[in-house]
Amino acid sequence: MALFPQSFLEDLRQQADIVQVVQETVSLRRVGSRYTGLCPFHSEKTPSFGVDRERGLFHCFGCGVGGNVFKFVELHERLSFPEAVRVLARKFGVAIPESSDTRQDAAAEGERETLITLHEVAAKFYREVLTSEAGRRGRELLEKRGLSREIIDSLGYGFAPPGRDTLLQHLRSKGLDPRLAVKAGLVADRDGRLSDRFWNRLMIPICRESGLVVGFGGRAMDADQVPKYLNSPETPIYSKGRTLYGLNVTKTAIRQQGRAVMVEGYFDFAMAIQGGVTAVVASSGTALTQPQAQLLRRFASRVVLSFDPDAAGQGAAVRSCDLLVREGFDVNVALLPPGRDPDLVVREEGGEAYQAIVEHAQPYLDFLVDRAVRQHDTATPAGRLAFLNAMLAVAASIPEAAARDQFADRLSLRAGISEDVVRDEIRKAAVARRTTAPAPRPVSRSQLTEAERDLLTHLMSAPADAAEAVMELEPADLVGLAARSLLESAQALARDERTQGRSGSVASRLLSELGEADVAFLTGLSATVAKPAPVADCIRVLKERRAARERQEIQRQIDAFQQAGGAGGGTDMEELLIRKLREARAAQAEG
Ligand SMILES: [Zn+2]
Repeated sequence: MALFPQSFLEDLRQQADIVQVVQETVSLRRVGSRYTGLCPFHSEKTPSFGVDRERGLFHCFGCGVGGNVFKFVELHERLSFPEAVRVLARKFGVAIPESSDTRQDAAAEGERETLITLHEVAAKFYREVLTSEAGRRGRELLEKRGLSREIIDSLGYGFAPPGRDTLLQHLRSKGLDPRLAVKAGLVADRDGRLSDRFWNRLMIPICRESGLVVGFGGRAMDADQVPKYLNSPETPIYSKGRTLYGLNVTKTAIRQQGRAVMVEGYFDFAMAIQGGVTAVVASSGTALTQPQAQLLRRFASRVVLSFDPDAAGQGAAVRSCDLLVREGFDVNVALLPPGRDPDLVVREEGGEAYQAIVEHAQPYLDFLVDRAVRQHDTATPAGRLAFLNAMLAVAASIPEAAARDQFADRLSLRAGISEDVVRDEIRKAAVARRTTAPAPRPVSRSQLTEAERDLLTHLMSAPADAAEAVMELEPADLVGLAARSLLESAQALARDERTQGRSGSVASRLLSELGEADVAFLTGLSATVAKPAPVADCIRVLKERRAARERQEIQRQIDAFQQAGGAGGGTDMEELLIRKLREARAAQAEG
């Protein structure tokens, strides 16, 4: 995933005629200086998709997608940006320069590639162990789970044997650097003593959408082994919040069906596929993040949430639903019988039973209404009022007035209150929401912290020193930021600028590289933010945020281990975590 020199990208963008590229899949009609046709990204009967050859941009007024020729190929061919660049370079005969990145870039890139190699070697090692005598217990577990040979192979399951350094020795025998294995999260370093991170665990590789292994989930084999699931840490190549488990295997099915069934666990995922529900991804048990939702949005606009009824409607499930609704998904909820998960249903009742449950998924709003009806006694006036109050906030969050009125009618039916009264109450709630809450904006903007907002404003107005400052941010500083991709683009441009000795052009080139929505967003920012905080303060705040987040994460892990019974025993893992916590605090104090 090397970064390409900016001059090369500009060349290629000019060579790669966007009309020609789009026309290969969309039949375009010329209207004045623009071309229009039926949008390839949503289904429509009258054209709302337009291409502007001169500006090199496309845009759909129906579904809102847009961008330059790279973006089109990325979305249409489901490729990453570098892959799209390569496809276009090949098609238009533009030579890809070897690398004119800075040495630092090349080093970072080389390291990322080594981390990926380490994961490849480790995945192969674990797979081989699973088929050998040492992996017998792993095979037995999978057999008990009822997983077919075919599924086990296609998901690349493996086994980490009980020894504490079997992987480490294997990596050494391959001439791979143990220090990098520590960085890859495969090997733990305890005061210079190295040992495998995963042992006596069934190993489930976590892949990028392209299929590259970038992390592992390890399931414990023994009841007293904590935690039950041990996952890879965040590394330069793996970010949990930006990865959706299983998408590499199921993306074609998801795209074909236009919907994704979302389950919680690794085994739910495997059994769903085995049961014939092939368009599936796993959330891995935590609430979805915005980048995950956006990743999924490239493949489907409908999501069917398949959680067990105790979990649905609370905690992570509700937060995921809300996020998906905000991100424009059509969300349905498939309720399983109490105490069941997809894994159990497929195993005990068969794939067809699970398929039927998924097909009978209920729209999310209906699900919420049903739940509220169960919680309130709508036979009494007080119960009806409580029910209505509970639903007002939900109703007010529906963006279109017509859909809101429709929802009001459903509520009135369920609560036995006149439609006019309900509509009126909802309108009031919607207005109150608009006046008290900040004005509706694109999600990304409303989620910006002040530091991000101000930094982006500086990038637009005073590019030179802002670009210098942006270079100080490390990948881990950017994790979880709404402006992450924008800041990464700015870093890439700033780096490129250093090598080529250009100056002051980060802003203009950022604008020329980004999609229309981002451009409108950035230009809007610099028009509205009057007095941004100094650049150095922005950077400091972002770095503090990262430190706080890391401390929180470590604390969370410690709590989890203590809850899991590690408190009295002083387990290895606990010691390790406590040490890490101290280190993080010390680092924070210095900074
Ligand atoms: Zn469209």
